[in-house]
Amino acid sequence: MLIYNSQNHRKQEFEPLEPGKVRMYVCGPTVYDQIHIGNARTFLSFDVIRRYLQYKGYEVTFAQNLTDVDDKIINRANEQGRSAAEVAEEFGTAFIEQMHRFGILDPDIRPRATREIEAMQEMIGVLIEKGNAYVAPNGDVYFSVRSDHDYGVLSGRELDQMRAGERVEVNDMKRDPFDFALWKAAKPGEPSWPSPWGEGRPGWHTECCAMIHRYLGTPIDIHGGGADLVFPHHENETAQAMCAWGEPLAKTWMHTGMLRVDGEKMSKSLGNFYTLKEVLDKYPADAVRLLMLQTHYRAPLDFSFERLEGSVGTLGRLASCVKNLRWAAGNAPLDGELNELDRSLSAATKEAEAEFVAQMDDDFNTAGAMAAIFGLVGSANRYLAEAAGNASTAVTLRTADALSELCGVLGIDLSRESGEGELPAELVGLAREHASYGGDDPASAADALLAARQEARASKNWATADAIRDGIAVLGLVVEDTPAGARLRAKRD
Ligand code: AMP
Ligand code: ZN
Repeated sequence: MLIYNSQNHRKQEFEPLEPGKVRMYVCGPTVYDQIHIGNARTFLSFDVIRRYLQYKGYEVTFAQNLTDVDDKIINRANEQGRSAAEVAEEFGTAFIEQMHRFGILDPDIRPRATREIEAMQEMIGVLIEKGNAYVAPNGDVYFSVRSDHDYGVLSGRELDQMRAGERVEVNDMKRDPFDFALWKAAKPGEPSWPSPWGEGRPGWHTECCAMIHRYLGTPIDIHGGGADLVFPHHENETAQAMCAWGEPLAKTWMHTGMLRVDGEKMSKSLGNFYTLKEVLDKYPADAVRLLMLQTHYRAPLDFSFERLEGSVGTLGRLASCVKNLRWAAGNAPLDGELNELDRSLSAATKEAEAEFVAQMDDDFNTAGAMAAIFGLVGSANRYLAEAAGNASTAVTLRTADALSELCGVLGIDLSRESGEGELPAELVGLAREHASYGGDDPASAADALLAARQEARASKNWATADAIRDGIAVLGLVVEDTPAGARLRAKRD
């Protein structure tokens, strides 16, 4: 399996530090507001990466922090006349809620900065002792970038060619403008903790580094985040680890491309953002997922609501194909010998599975993996149309299972997309009332509706009969009236 390591700009064969196990960390959000869909893209990318590593059989330990003390949180709290802890609590909870709605798996470990002060102070102490950090006159503690000969190794920058002020805070407590704060002396009204250097709070770069060391041990296999974190955040993280413990922080660094609107990075500061919450209030989570995964995680992703509408349709086609396959399986005659048509769908299924793995093995190419899935959807739809009522149960079930499983690896749960919820309520009621209704799945609903429709026709109640036919169509099926009676078959696209 190849993974692109942003440290050396190359795809490398992935070999975990400990056979069969992967330890990974992804920088979490600063919890001062709802996250936007750009943030969500980064978290989604690593969710799929983690799921795929698990699919490959690795035992993955995944940690992600919540930055719950930070200037942005303090500013928001001051604006709203609340405490920073209240703001962080509200948006920490909101973040976890939206991650669940989006189908993102919980991390195994979710440390919060405010509960890890001791681990951070310990690391800062080591850095001071080794001469890599100094206490400024005001009680701030800074990391001295000049003390680390490897500084710049991750982002490929040379200190002397960098310009201060761009992405680095300038202040007169620092000996060098690129030095960064490990510990910030408390200002009045700010949350603070006692320390050997006076009351204060930790710096952002210090947080992730100390938590990784504490919970996963350094170096870890994979460290991830958005591409905007390479410098200075990840550069500073790795510099601290190298200086404190003599080892790099991570073996492989992975960075996601930025989600953009109208060619510009989505960000809170530009004001061009949509929150994940507002998007999930209007669109199915899996449609958003599908849209995002159609672009490789390292490439920029151009977001638009037109594209998202398109993904809703694509998701529907995917779900109805699987539904139709399961339907055909349930309504097929007893399986005999497989014919040529059956064998070709069977072969297409195996090929799609192999192609999916090949694409994902190539630096998690979800776009290629989805193309494999859609290729199989095309084959399955052609099969259903050609096999008509003569489909093979074994082959259709196998293909339906393969599609569900591959989608599952991408975190797309097709069972969520196919339920009786899609059926108009009055038809659900009608189906439920019918004696033949066997259970809460679309198959039983449609069977019961078919029987109800026959009864409506027998009593010349044409309006009800037609309404039922339309309801069955919602399930992705059509009623075919044959001389031998009505039967259901998958709708041809
Ligand atoms: P923050 O809370 O700003 O630290 O952001 C949380 C995560 O979202 C980080 O990994 C960022 O790199 C990432 N991120 C921020 N903006 C975008 C964007 N427009 N597209 C993709 N990822 C982003
Ligand atoms: Zn971090």
